[in-house]
Amino acid sequence: MTIYNVGSINLDHVYQLDHFVRPGETMASDSYQCLLGGKGANQSVALAKAGAEVKHVGAIHPSNQAVLDQLQALGVDTSLVAFSDVATGHAIIQLTKQAENSIILYQGANHQLTELQVDEVLSQAQSGDWVLLQNETNLIEYTMRKAQSLGVKVAFNPAPMDATLTQKVLGLVDLLIVNEVEAMDLIGTTDIETTLAEFPKKYPDLAVIMTLGKAGVYYFYGEEVVSVKAFSVDAVDTTGAGDTFIGFCLSALMKGEDMTQAMTRACAASAICVTRLGAASAIPTQHEVTEFLA
Ligand code: ADP
Repeated sequence: MTIYNVGSINLDHVYQLDHFVRPGETMASDSYQCLLGGKGANQSVALAKAGAEVKHVGAIHPSNQAVLDQLQALGVDTSLVAFSDVATGHAIIQLTKQAENSIILYQGANHQLTELQVDEVLSQAQSGDWVLLQNETNLIEYTMRKAQSLGVKVAFNPAPMDATLTQKVLGLVDLLIVNEVEAMDLIGTTDIETTLAEFPKKYPDLAVIMTLGKAGVYYFYGEEVVSVKAFSVDAVDTTGAGDTFIGFCLSALMKGEDMTQAMTRACAASAICVTRLGAASAIPTQHEVTEFLA
């Protein structure tokens, strides 16, 4: 069973500064890191580390082949990533000592997927395979329709949330995975209690995983509700928690684990992730998750 993750690949250029650059100011930074990022790439890394067979579908500029080498070294099949004339997606991130950030995001090649690429990729898929999408690439609805017509299951993590697009495609989604902010944006609520009560009423036919940070996670499908508590850890950086959760949860479901087992394993993986700095580099291995749960 393969998971085709149609998602973003970004280069995150991170600069540590005393304060954000002001209009007209040029500021030197003596701290620079270039990190692999994008929700798509992070989720592919989490899936691979969780032991799933993951093929990443996306696009980069050929000058950034090293990014694909990095993904491959982490266990992600990148043979379906296309090359584009447009620059690789990237983020320019200013980080202050007060842990505030200011980000310029250039979507670049992430929005250059073509219908031909999607058709070719999905022609390889077999029933039982999954397609995973976030909301950082183009052709979301097209890809879902194609997957559905081929009998391939669709998991959707609509991040960053676009409520109009998400509502439009919900009928094509087999499993929706949202965090609490995305869930509230989607149904127009302002507190989590109302969201938990209203979501299953509003979407009784939709299987939904809702992650609630250190309050854990809920799964709803009609009358069925499963909840798992988060593990209590000393969090230092919650970047990538949701991506880690998604990778480990989907990998466990594809291996046949039930929802409680899959979400427990995913909570353990994301609990480890939040105790470490960084995103892709903070995602634990299967072995670390098994030790954590022992
Ligand atoms: P996102 O990163 O998309 O905002 P969440 O913040 O909901 O997603 O986190 C996803 C999962 O990560 C949670 O369901 C939980 O299992 C775990 N997690 C997040 N923050 C913490 C924390 N402070 N302590 C322990 N687990 C956490």
